[in-house]
Amino acid sequence: MKDISTRLVNAGKAEALQIINTINPPLHRASTVIFDSYSDMLKANKGEFEGIEYGTCGLSAQKAFEVAMLELEGAHGCRAFQSGIAAIAMVLMAYTKQGDHILICDNVYGPTRRFCDVFLAKYGVETEYLPSDAGVGIAGYIRENTKLLFMESPGSNTFEIQDISAITAECRAKGVVSVIDNTWATPLYFNPFKHGVDVSIQSCTKYITGHSDILLGTVSTNEQSWAAFKKCCGLFEVYAAQEDCYQGLRGLRTLKVRLKAHEESALAVAKWLEKHDMVESVIHPALESHPQHELWKKYYNGSSGLFAFTLKEEYENIDHSPFVDNLALFGLGYSWGGYKSLITGGKFRRTNPFGYEGKTIFRLNIGLEDVEDLKADLAQGLERLKV
Ligand SMILES: *Cc1c(COP(=O)(O)O)cnc(C)c1O
Repeated sequence: MKDISTRLVNAGKAEALQIINTINPPLHRASTVIFDSYSDMLKANKGEFEGIEYGTCGLSAQKAFEVAMLELEGAHGCRAFQSGIAAIAMVLMAYTKQGDHILICDNVYGPTRRFCDVFLAKYGVETEYLPSDAGVGIAGYIRENTKLLFMESPGSNTFEIQDISAITAECRAKGVVSVIDNTWATPLYFNPFKHGVDVSIQSCTKYITGHSDILLGTVSTNEQSWAAFKKCCGLFEVYAAQEDCYQGLRGLRTLKVRLKAHEESALAVAKWLEKHDMVESVIHPALESHPQHELWKKYYNGSSGLFAFTLKEEYENIDHSPFVDNLALFGLGYSWGGYKSLITGGKFRRTNPFGYEGKTIFRLNIGLEDVEDLKADLAQGLERLKV
């Protein structure tokens, strides 16, 4: 019998390593991973080991989640990150260097823009913004040193669509890496790789995990763009928390049914708002009133639960607090894709081809509550703006 100190260090190891055939992946906790042999370690020393050599390589739940996302999107490689914005930042760093020029659609997620304007600018990468409804016209923006083009379609505040195939064809011809933030549609309602996109980003914080309690992001790429991305990830030794990847994987199991429910309820609320006497416009790409509805139909198999609306002129420049503060079912908070309905509001400060510049945009995340209850809540809230 060994000394108590040695026993404390080794007790229970053999049992812990037994594989139990659960449906869901095990959760490992590790920095160190034990090699089977010295020859494996020598390979790892030279960067030639194929397996998992350290915690930052991604443990079982992360690997399982990455493979699931990769298969869903039909990608070549996938990597999970601790948030959507971390995933975006890694993409922007992986494909750029000092002296490069990049093109970003003007409707992108705010922090994406900040990363370009503050961080990339510091390292000598120049960012130029494209109209949010960009299409074939992008040819005129591509320069000798243009390396990357970043789309977000539909944009997550004013829902402009980009003509994705037209853009990726142009990018391909000029050797520009094309990237899309596909969070709104999820891989179920839009497949970036079928339309020539090189790199697809998903904030899994939204629909994939679906419960407003996890921050998680993924980057998937085609074969051609994978090596450069993988190399950059390796330098940063990024990874995603095991528990969060586990939740990401679990979220995928129910994604289709949840998304369908969000879609149907959001469309019902949007159509009701379109008829409301105080509403000027409902901004939802699946509505015929959306100026790019035909383009949306060309690319998307469905719509999710996030859309926006504006109020008529007489309700524009007033205090909207009586409306927003009195909603009982809509939480006033950022993010979306979860089971609870949420609202955000504020004046839109980007350029917009459809006249929303300077307009107050109320954005709704339609959750899984009853549609009639949601309508009634909005109705009583809006009524409070009438004096
Ligand atoms: C929320 C969001 C992100 C960032 O995701 P986080 O996981 O919250 O960092 C990126 N893109 C879009 C379109 C988003 O809505």
